[in-house]
Amino acid sequence: MPQTVLEAKNLKKVYNFNTANAFEALHDINFKVEEGDFVAIMGPSGSGKSTFINNISTIDLPTSGYVYINGKEVRSMSSNEIGRFRYQNLGFIFQDFNLLDTHTMYENIAMPLSLAHVDREEIRRRITKLAEQMDISQLLEKFPNECSGGQRQRAAICRALVNNPRIIIADEPTGNLDSTNSSELMKILQRLNHENGVTIVMVTHDPLITSYSSRLLYIKDGNIETVLEKGDMTQDEYFQKIVEINSAESREILQK
Ligand code: ADP
Repeated sequence: MPQTVLEAKNLKKVYNFNTANAFEALHDINFKVEEGDFVAIMGPSGSGKSTFINNISTIDLPTSGYVYINGKEVRSMSSNEIGRFRYQNLGFIFQDFNLLDTHTMYENIAMPLSLAHVDREEIRRRITKLAEQMDISQLLEKFPNECSGGQRQRAAICRALVNNPRIIIADEPTGNLDSTNSSELMKILQRLNHENGVTIVMVTHDPLITSYSSRLLYIKDGNIETVLEKGDMTQDEYFQKIVEINSAESREILQK
């Protein structure tokens, strides 16, 4: 039986709670991610995708309802516990890479381990191996602004992987990449998923990027509107279905 690694139960998020500007961005989300899943989250702009991914990954806390990561309920943890827990379980990849320009690529990748006071030799060992795998060994002493977008995103992936997380959370990870670097990144994520069993939850607006996942969650107006499993479909068949779901939405907007 695959293990549930992420679960949202009656998850609700209200921004500006208890004020005149209160806005309910997620209504009543119930959702499970099993170990080894590769879930893509799509939906129109403003539908709640970032809110969802932030709330299921400890970046933000739900207004009500529960989020469990590896069976542990997030709201019951102290902020110290959440920090440690993130370091032990989660790797994050963002659209704008979130690398610090004042630090070398090496120092950026080392960040999660430095913060956790991991031994310097151990840090060096892990970074050397990862940098080789991601083909950025020659760039470790450079600063991010001396590197291309694709190279920076590969450094960001190294940073996400350096603590050997079992779950990767990615918010529009290809948003700032050209098509060659995007498909390169997707192949890396797919390999991590297939070969290392890493669970991936990723927000994207691109059907082609989603076609690398094993399940699509389509969010609309703060609700999960559609769930599509890849199942036995080829990547091409899955892609066609993903396009259909997205274009039905676009047609609806056109008809309004
Ligand atoms: P998406 O990622 O799908 O574009 P978001 O999760 O960013 O959507 O936003 C969902 C809704 O919540 C939007 O209407 C947005 O304006 C609102 N929202 C997002 N963040 C905040 C915030 N910090 N304060 C108030 N409203 C917010």
